Amino acid sequence: MNPLNILKKYYGYDAFRPGQEELIQAILSGKDALGIMPTGGGKSICYQVPALLLDGVTIVISPLISLMKDQVDTLKEYGIEAELINSTLSTKEFREIRANARMGAYKLLYVAPERLETESFMDLIREVPVSMVAVDEAHCVSQWGHDFRPSYRRVSQILYALPKRPIVAAFTATATPLVKEDIIKLLELNKPFELTSSFDRPNLYFEVRKPENKLHETEMYLREHVGESGVIYCATRKGVDDLYERLLRLGLPCTKYHAGLSEAERSSNQDDFLYDRVSVMIATNAFGMGIDKPNVRFVLHYNMPKNMEGYYQEAGRAGRDGEEAQCILLFGTQDIMTNRYLIENANGLGRQIEYDKLNSMVDYCNTESCLRNYILNYFGQQTLEEDCHHCGSCNNDTEESDITVEAQKILSCVKRMKERFGSTQVADVLKGSNTQKIKSFKFNELTTYGVMKDYPKDTIKELISFLVAEGYLQLVGTQYPIIQLTEASYEVLKGKKPVTIKRILVKETTPVRSRSGLDAKVDLVLFEKLRSIRYDIAHKQHIQPFMVFPDTTLKE
Ligand code: ADP
Ligand code: MG
Ligand code: ZN
Repeated sequence: MNPLNILKKYYGYDAFRPGQEELIQAILSGKDALGIMPTGGGKSICYQVPALLLDGVTIVISPLISLMKDQVDTLKEYGIEAELINSTLSTKEFREIRANARMGAYKLLYVAPERLETESFMDLIREVPVSMVAVDEAHCVSQWGHDFRPSYRRVSQILYALPKRPIVAAFTATATPLVKEDIIKLLELNKPFELTSSFDRPNLYFEVRKPENKLHETEMYLREHVGESGVIYCATRKGVDDLYERLLRLGLPCTKYHAGLSEAERSSNQDDFLYDRVSVMIATNAFGMGIDKPNVRFVLHYNMPKNMEGYYQEAGRAGRDGEEAQCILLFGTQDIMTNRYLIENANGLGRQIEYDKLNSMVDYCNTESCLRNYILNYFGQQTLEEDCHHCGSCNNDTEESDITVEAQKILSCVKRMKERFGSTQVADVLKGSNTQKIKSFKFNELTTYGVMKDYPKDTIKELISFLVAEGYLQLVGTQYPIIQLTEASYEVLKGKKPVTIKRILVKETTPVRSRSGLDAKVDLVLFEKLRSIRYDIAHKQHIQPFMVFPDTTLKE
């Protein structure tokens, strides 16, 4: 059998992903290997496939027991002989595994790094033919990485315990040059075959927002993405608990995950999310390692993480199926303080390094150039030659808000007022004002009277101007212009044409002009205003904000 046969037979995949085959071939030719691939790139297969083809046993070192357990369970389902050795095994269970291993029962043995420190484990591996040691999440060996595990330093001891040196293959998603150096040195890789597959994830859209009110922003976002699967990361457990409570109170279903929850609660919440019973997961960074949910449509960071490695790993959990997904970071200056505090109070290893990393993270949040290029550059990868056209800095028309309902209310009000009044009177009627004019014309008897009472009058007037600018209304007359309908109005009133307003990200140097000639900034302001009005309305009435305006008189 060759690697491709194995891939098809056991995993049911038709082709290797970029880099997988090269790494597998190198390992099979007896070389040490270092594979650097982004999260979701498919690192596991790079050591699992050769493990099946090599004689003897492959020892897999991985930092998280839950992650290994999932992998071993999956392998067993595929019919691959694998077992997991962790610290919760009883003496009897361990003895059984040891006996089986001696009889050649396993192709893969997963081991928690802490276990490397026990004599019993060292005895076990001396009794079996070890052909390869695969080190997953290899950055854990380096204190320059973001997830340092001292026990990873013991990996190289296996090499000395064995009569014949096995192949060593290391894999990680996060290898800055310093981390890479550490991996090679500390895991004692021998002239490894190195492969870095591209970190660019073209289907991910990156954006940094600086909202005044993060809760509000999150609520708006979730209401615009109802039913989509997404993760919201918070910096602390308390942050997770708080946001969870608040969103539930706002009627937004979600579940949560952090290390302070009982194991039972964690696994049941995780399953609810994985099996799409609840679409939104609120979590600390304890959630996600080894989670392979393909249809995550957004990853929202409620707080800025403490470094780019962590950020990209977490954000990278979006869009594993290759479909469009969003990675949005909500930045607040408070996040800098929180992270400084966390660094200050962590066990003092490499504190200056942590601060430097934090600074790079803050720079990401404040850069005006392409976010994707910033990321690629940070990870030492070749950047794109141009802007990516698909991030908060490059994209000019990222967000659209549907204002058809508002437009219909305004247009039908103009119609009912017989197209004989100016914008102030129309706005007064929509607002439900009680002016003399309204009384004398009996406008308070119109069905459109007060249908926009929750909107500030200025906003109603801005909306009218917007509709004029876009050609859905026209001004007639010069001194006291009145507002009349256009052909386009009827399309909108009959529900044949949606009206949208774009949120245009204005760059200082390039003044963007919208189709209508209105300064884009005006659109932006109006857009933001509408968002918050809808939010207030939804809040007051505890209903979904986008209700349909019933128009009974439009049956021409
Ligand atoms: P990583 O460890 O690099 O984050 P995984 O090894 O967990 O990534 O793989 C991510 C997902 O991609 C898994 O669902 C895996 O089965 C899938 N995958 C890996 N290789 C291939 C392939 N060649 N074709 C299709 N799917 C693949
Ligand atoms: Mg992995
Ligand atoms: Zn870009």
